[in-house]
Amino acid sequence: MRCQKVKRKLSAFLDGELSEKKASRIAEHLSGCQNCQQEVAFLSSLWERLEEMREVDPSPYFWTRLNARITQAEERSFSLDRVRGILDRLLVPATAIAALVVGLWIGGALYEVHWEDKPNLWEQATASLYLDALDDFPAQSIGLAYTELVFD
Ligand SMILES: [Zn+2]
Repeated sequence: MRCQKVKRKLSAFLDGELSEKKASRIAEHLSGCQNCQQEVAFLSSLWERLEEMREVDPSPYFWTRLNARITQAEERSFSLDRVRGILDRLLVPATAIAALVVGLWIGGALYEVHWEDKPNLWEQATASLYLDALDDFPAQSIGLAYTELVFD
């Protein structure tokens, strides 16, 4: 057995996790190899020190405080989700308004270009829309029909 192969299995060997056959082959190698014996000594002392390390007990309120912090963090992320939801809901009307403004602006520009070239048409168009409160209602108009209905 070569040193490299033995060293890879030393940890399992020390923990007694190897089969009897493999363990005896490693023990055989160790008896004749000083290099691997040093490795075993090093690992053994390392394991001993690790076992000596004292387990630290958390303070009595550790779990309570940890739970509180987790809840707090969850609430914070929840409120972030809510803010994002509100922003999403605002974004749709904002986009619609922006589209409307752009549409009106383009429409206005086209309208001006169209009517500035034909002032007579513009006057005719506005005159037909113009209605003075003191003028008689035009024939066949809704205003005339209404006054006839009410006052006649
Ligand atoms: Zn060796």
